[in-house]
Amino acid sequence: MISNEINKNMQNSSWIRKMFEEGERLAKIHGKENIYDYSIGNPFAEPPIEVINSLIKHSSEKGVHRYMSNAGFLDVRKTMANEINKNIIDKKLSYEHVVMTCGAAGALNTVLRAILNPGEEVIVFTPYFVEYGFYIQNHNGIMVTINNEKTNFQPNLDELKKKITKKTKAIIINSPNNPTGVVYKENILKEMSLVIKEKEEEFNSKIFIISDEPYSKIVYNNIKIPNILNIFENGIIVNSFSKSLGLAGERIGYIAVNPKIENVSILMNALIFCNRTLGFGNAPALAQKAVADGINSSVNIADYQEKRDFLYDNLTRLGFTMVNPEGTFYLFPKSPIKNDIEFVKFATKYNILLVPGSGFGCPGYFRMSYCVDFNMIKRSISAFEKMAKDLNL
Ligand code: PLP
Repeated sequence: MISNEINKNMQNSSWIRKMFEEGERLAKIHGKENIYDYSIGNPFAEPPIEVINSLIKHSSEKGVHRYMSNAGFLDVRKTMANEINKNIIDKKLSYEHVVMTCGAAGALNTVLRAILNPGEEVIVFTPYFVEYGFYIQNHNGIMVTINNEKTNFQPNLDELKKKITKKTKAIIINSPNNPTGVVYKENILKEMSLVIKEKEEEFNSKIFIISDEPYSKIVYNNIKIPNILNIFENGIIVNSFSKSLGLAGERIGYIAVNPKIENVSILMNALIFCNRTLGFGNAPALAQKAVADGINSSVNIADYQEKRDFLYDNLTRLGFTMVNPEGTFYLFPKSPIKNDIEFVKFATKYNILLVPGSGFGCPGYFRMSYCVDFNMIKRSISAFEKMAKDLNL
């Protein structure tokens, strides 16, 4: 009845779903408060009050609920452009280079639809957000993976050099990264831009850098995320407010394109056309107004940092090893059992729910999502202690 491809994809993409179902099963046996669920990256924080107030205020505004330009409200696009411009050296980005979208997911699909011809390649770095594979496939592209350095999870440029071909149309980068929490270093991104330039000359091609940045505001110790439009001439930012404003259910984000891209207006027209014809039409009207009003606010980042510190300190004390992440709300420790899938199954014996690194194209690790109640995190430590003891860590 359904497409063979979708049937296959559904069977291969169910790790988080499987964990969710396992959690439901365990909760019935042991009680919900005794299950330590680190499987889902669903933002725990509520949206800031100015965002809630904006939603209420604009809901009764005349005309706000009508069809609009497929790129979104002009005033909202201007607000986004001003915000992005703050970190761009030449400040040339205008509303004309911004399209409001249905989250980062909608933005990624719109970009890929606009640029890909069938069979063209899109490079991603492992571990990667598992949906990339499906989005690339949606638009008849081929995903090419590059294994990042395991010591720090920074992009592996030696492998990048080898894997760029004449068919490479785009490279997706994701920093701060899901699932590692790592922030890509500016010097490595600059080096990456040189590698890409060299390859573009070799193949007489144009390669887009799609920078997927839904966690750009969730960074710790005030570290600064480099603006990729200062680094990559063919850079396209994809961002969303799902995490930074706790608005995942409202489906709101944007695409911002480097004004320096050759024939940028053709690209913009294609993006606006694809935002429409993929069936999004436009980004949700009320949510657009709310994120423009909330542009200077964010969820409580200190709260996430406190959880990261608590978990990192406790897990390393117990013998787990991991890179200490500079952002997001994920940890990506090494699996203490070689087979990460076996380990994740083993952890359920202690009522701990995790996601295997294999689900992100990176076996031998596991992901913990700590956008959860702090009380649950605190309660879970004794379960981790028991497990670490049984594993002789
Ligand atoms: N990209 C990454 C790396 C993500 O982790 C997510 C969501 O978890 C998305 C994109 C999709 O975000 P959105 O809710 O804005 O569509």
